[in-house]
Amino acid sequence: MEATEKTARQMEFLEKARGAAAAYAERLGHAPRSYIETFGCQMNARDSEKLRGILREAGFADAREENEADLVLYNTCTVRDNADQHVYGRLGRLGGNRKSHPGRIVGLCGCLMQEPHAVEKIKKSYPFVNLVFGTHNLYAFPELLYRALTEKKRVFEIEEKTTVLPESLPVERKHGFKSGVNIMYGCDNFCTYCIVPYVRGREISREPEDILAEVRHLAADGVKEIMLLGQNVNSYGKKLAEPATFAGLLRRICRVEGIERVRFMTSHPKDLSDDLVRAMAEEKKLCPHLHLPVQSGSDRLLKQMNRHYDRAHYLGLVEKLRAAVPDISLTTDIIVGFPGETEEDFEATLSLVREVGFDSAFTFIYSKRTGTPAASYPDQVPDEVAHERFDRLLAAVKEGAERMCGRFAGQVAEVLAEEENRQPGYITGRTPHNLVVHFPGTKEEIGKIVKVRLSDPRGFYYFGERV
Ligand code: SF4
Repeated sequence: MEATEKTARQMEFLEKARGAAAAYAERLGHAPRSYIETFGCQMNARDSEKLRGILREAGFADAREENEADLVLYNTCTVRDNADQHVYGRLGRLGGNRKSHPGRIVGLCGCLMQEPHAVEKIKKSYPFVNLVFGTHNLYAFPELLYRALTEKKRVFEIEEKTTVLPESLPVERKHGFKSGVNIMYGCDNFCTYCIVPYVRGREISREPEDILAEVRHLAADGVKEIMLLGQNVNSYGKKLAEPATFAGLLRRICRVEGIERVRFMTSHPKDLSDDLVRAMAEEKKLCPHLHLPVQSGSDRLLKQMNRHYDRAHYLGLVEKLRAAVPDISLTTDIIVGFPGETEEDFEATLSLVREVGFDSAFTFIYSKRTGTPAASYPDQVPDEVAHERFDRLLAAVKEGAERMCGRFAGQVAEVLAEEENRQPGYITGRTPHNLVVHFPGTKEEIGKIVKVRLSDPRGFYYFGERV
């Protein structure tokens, strides 16, 4: 079946799911309520918006909390072992409460469900889970939902690879004023520690015209800020029938009227082109922030990680970026305790952190992922050594980040007001540099871009005053 036929078939199932949900409502005595918990990255967050959109169209209301839900769906992550354990822990809790929710649908989807050992475990140890699907059949959620509502048996459907992109189904956005847009799916890089290419499959880029149509539609719907999403956006378009570049796509998106800010993630240093650096300097709507995962400062480990760049290349990119966009914010990901990491390797990472001066960094202790090459490397680093290095790295990141954050003190920034703050009378928003600012405001201003003086630096964020 062609992708378009498969998509059309899902629209028919959405209609059927609506009927099945109405019957479910009758059995329950109220409109069914759903609760989605998202684990992991922004790709999963965007997938959850699609799942929520389908549930809403099928007639499900949002539950305020998991406990009142008639359908609970966990959109799982598997990049680290603690993400897996977190899901099992939550399932254990859910299982303990199941007597008070007879007939509740419990579903699991996302990256962990692409791992056969996890699916086996769910089958055997969590009999109350009655709907399981993976990353490649998210597009078929209307059909899977219909089956879960109407069949007496458990529904387990995992596809091996992506045949249809989940792009034509309803979406329920978390925010009215900003939105993620998937530009590509999967990854071809096979970094030796990473499970993503195994659970998300090979890289597939969307056609530029489809992406632009979506962005125009979002702009017409009041969206001001777009976050372009992909595992490695810098290799966008290379495999399309008519190859396109990421920089070219960005320039076209920046022309869309109504869109005021464009962000993107994630960038792989090996594919960051001069054209992209130029676009960052020239396109005013492109936010001056780049998340550029370095992972390690040691050339020996970068090779072991299969990252295809070295320390000098990374530092060269930082230099180019700072020459083109002088006050650019740079953030990164760093792994500590990769197999074979010596004190010398770790010192190289620490010195790179000091040399670059990141605005912030996500730091992780290496997590062994079964099936990846690094899982079978000798010299796994003992836990206590990894933890001790992790603490030292965190201190270095914190010191640099506080210094970098402080460079904006006293400046006036254009802040996109995003949400009410816990402190009454305050709103929280972000500057183009992705800096969090709390400032006096009202909830009516959420979604607007307002001028705020960054008067009070608090380490990684600011309290500001309206100007
Ligand atoms: S680029 Fe490397 S770290 Fe990123 S998703 Fe692909 S394999 Fe994983």
